[in-house]
Amino acid sequence: MIAPVNKTPKATIYLSNWLVPRKMVAINIGPISIIKKDWYEAAGENTRQYIERHENIHYIQFLRNPWTHYIRYLFNAKYRLDCEIEAYAHNVVHDKTAKSWVIKFLCAEYGLPHGSGYDEKKVGKMLMEEVKRVSKIKEL
Ligand SMILES: [Zn+2]
Repeated sequence: MIAPVNKTPKATIYLSNWLVPRKMVAINIGPISIIKKDWYEAAGENTRQYIERHENIHYIQFLRNPWTHYIRYLFNAKYRLDCEIEAYAHNVVHDKTAKSWVIKFLCAEYGLPHGSGYDEKKVGKMLMEEVKRVSKIKEL
């Protein structure tokens, strides 16, 4: 049998209270997404779908650049921001995540360099552009 090549890749989800760093609810490591067990079990269906989609976009980002994705994600604030903007844009389009929350969260929690000009206004503009792009593509 021939497997379709255009099927959206899906990371396998594991639940663990130990393997996800403090202050985070989930982490993607290539084909594996680990979600904090207590958080996931307390979450409603929509929230579960939101985090699964978000982490899966990170998996797709890994597949695009398997050799450099994690190094760049950890050490390059602009690359990290671009990755998060893309993942959250999918959440805004498909999970109705509030744009204002995403913007504030990214500005507060993702280590954007001070003085880099990445304030809420600029991040908001980037998110809006990505939301526009994502809403034109088929649901992942
Ligand atoms: Zn993310």
